[in-house]
Amino acid sequence: MQKDKDLSGDRDWDRFNGIGMTSPRARARMVAQLREKGIHDETVLAAMNAVPRHIFVEESLASRAYDNTPLPIGYNQTISQPWVVARMTELARQGKKLRSVLEIGSGSGYQTAVLALVADRVYTVERIGVLVAKARRHLRDLKLTNVAIKHGDGSATMDELLQVDAIVVTAGATALPEALLEHLEIGGRMVVPLAEEGNPERQRLTVIERTATGFKEETLDPVRFVPLLPGTA
Ligand code: SAH
Repeated sequence: MQKDKDLSGDRDWDRFNGIGMTSPRARARMVAQLREKGIHDETVLAAMNAVPRHIFVEESLASRAYDNTPLPIGYNQTISQPWVVARMTELARQGKKLRSVLEIGSGSGYQTAVLALVADRVYTVERIGVLVAKARRHLRDLKLTNVAIKHGDGSATMDELLQVDAIVVTAGATALPEALLEHLEIGGRMVVPLAEEGNPERQRLTVIERTATGFKEETLDPVRFVPLLPGTA
């Protein structure tokens, strides 16, 4: 397998390397699968190759961390499937370096970590307090100092001055979270799993791009996400 560029910097992530199913080889096999399944952005693939996904799941599930599957993280929530994380990051990037990204639904913090390697600054919001605490610990262990994680309802109003060049919503919306679009710079885009009208079970990755004159919408891959919910827990 070709040697990918190393995005982990001087954060000393080698100390997380396990053996067997949690080894760098297992992660490289996952990346090879992502390539086969149509992920082409080399920067995204390098980020997926760098972040140790196994530290974001319970120890009893660590041996499955590099399977292309979502896994439970407690509280009825899941860490997203690697392909979905890669695809959303690729769609958010559009081949360009990201300055700032807003993520709604930090969950385990895994997608946050991937975003932190491809963006200068990441803001992430999670409604479940216990998950915020866990994700914060993992992001700190990884020395990802360019991430701000907050406990709150991401579909409610945010700091109105926040302007980002991408928003990644990692929970399924039944209606477009329009309030969030205010935070997009012109040329920026929101990636959101959006349910088909009247059918919350059928979601598709949807990209909304802010143009100089309005918004452009594109409907892409079918996906399955836990629901975007109001309020905090
Ligand atoms: N990106 C996560 C995926 C977690 S699943 C990961 O890689 O692990 C989706 C997460 O969205 C859940 O943790 C859920 O609690 C959270 N969520 C749902 N609605 C939300 C809202 N309105 N604001 C913030 N977080 C929300």
